[in-house]
Amino acid sequence: MGVNVNTSTTTHVETHKETHKPGGAPARYAKGRYARGWSRAHRWTAALPRLTFWFMLAAVVVAVAGCNRPGGAPGVSVRTSFALGTLVQIRAYGSKAREAVSDAFDRIEAVEALMSANVATSDVAAVNREAGGLPTRVADDTLYVVKKARRYGDLSRGRFDMAIGPLVRLWGIGTNHARVPSPEEVAAARSLVDHRDVEIDETRGTVRLRRAGMALDLGAIAKGFAADRAAEALLQQGVKSAFIDLGGNILVLGSKPDGSPWRVGIQNPWKERGATFAVVPVRDMAVVSSGTYERFFEQAGTRYHHIIDPDTGYPAETGIVSATVLARRAVDADALSTTVFLLGPSNGMRLVTQLPGVQAVIVTQDRQVMASPGLRGVIEVSKGWTIRFYGASDAQES
Ligand code: AMP
Ligand code: MG
Repeated sequence: MGVNVNTSTTTHVETHKETHKPGGAPARYAKGRYARGWSRAHRWTAALPRLTFWFMLAAVVVAVAGCNRPGGAPGVSVRTSFALGTLVQIRAYGSKAREAVSDAFDRIEAVEALMSANVATSDVAAVNREAGGLPTRVADDTLYVVKKARRYGDLSRGRFDMAIGPLVRLWGIGTNHARVPSPEEVAAARSLVDHRDVEIDETRGTVRLRRAGMALDLGAIAKGFAADRAAEALLQQGVKSAFIDLGGNILVLGSKPDGSPWRVGIQNPWKERGATFAVVPVRDMAVVSSGTYERFFEQAGTRYHHIIDPDTGYPAETGIVSATVLARRAVDADALSTTVFLLGPSNGMRLVTQLPGVQAVIVTQDRQVMASPGLRGVIEVSKGWTIRFYGASDAQES
């Protein structure tokens, strides 16, 4: 959501390098102190008072460390950085939480290096440079994301279009050169947008754009993929509980350290960032929103947002203000939140209810909230909000 890898800045600003909170290291430290204390005391068996002293000291240290380890969670590491054009925060629990978070950030940066059209050395930039020319060999990760994008392009009959690049460039939404283009410019750019003209050769591992002037833009899917890669890195370091936030693309690993589900808030589209209108308690789940409030500019009272309808060449007008999708993998949740937004409430919900393990929450311009049936009894909406479940005639008020 909100990310436009194409126009995003690639500067990596570390806002808060690393916080290693008490809980992990103290536990290990405590163990060491206990062992050292014990063996030294053991050698001096005659010095009983000393032994008692060491024993008591060790007991106190272990007890204090134990207080910091509820449910056996050995440590927490929290880090916030700027990557993929957005603020990324990872909070992970585990004895190797610190290394895990560092690896996770490396993975996110690797995705940015491959999939940002702004990075001249990226796969996407290389494919775009060769538009109308030769196939470009890309990394397996890029091929995977392009294949996923093809799937969502097909599922949405071309509404989700990874070849949206020419229109994204033309509008420049989210950049300092955003403007309303002329109808002629829109028509010219629109004629270069068609995901069916993206040739994928799986055996050779290449991607080719059939016509000169075409351009890939993976801004609707790359952040989700990056979140999945970050989660993989955490798992490899033994992390079982984590919260990954890529500018509002949320992916949670396991449950909270106390065993209760993570509680993910859904942004209120009319309020400042961080103000939510609903909460979903989840475990091992991605929760991703796409909305008009993410990136936009206003001119003469009209809001022009960043999700472009490839059929018209203008920001999509489907009556949706925000679409949130829950799925096991963030790559799917990310692509689907944009897809649902582009399809509109009915077609969007119809698609979501056909996909196993996928749920959605849609907010429309008239402040209606619609959720997929699987969220009944799960989603909690704030006071004053009414929620309807797709396919049901009743509404649930809060
Ligand atoms: P998201 O915030 O995930 O919904 O993705 C929005 C971003 O996806 C935009 O900033 C563009 O980079 C890109 N995008 C815009 N329109 C489309 C579209 N019709 N299909 C696929 N990607 C799009
Ligand atoms: Mg998306």
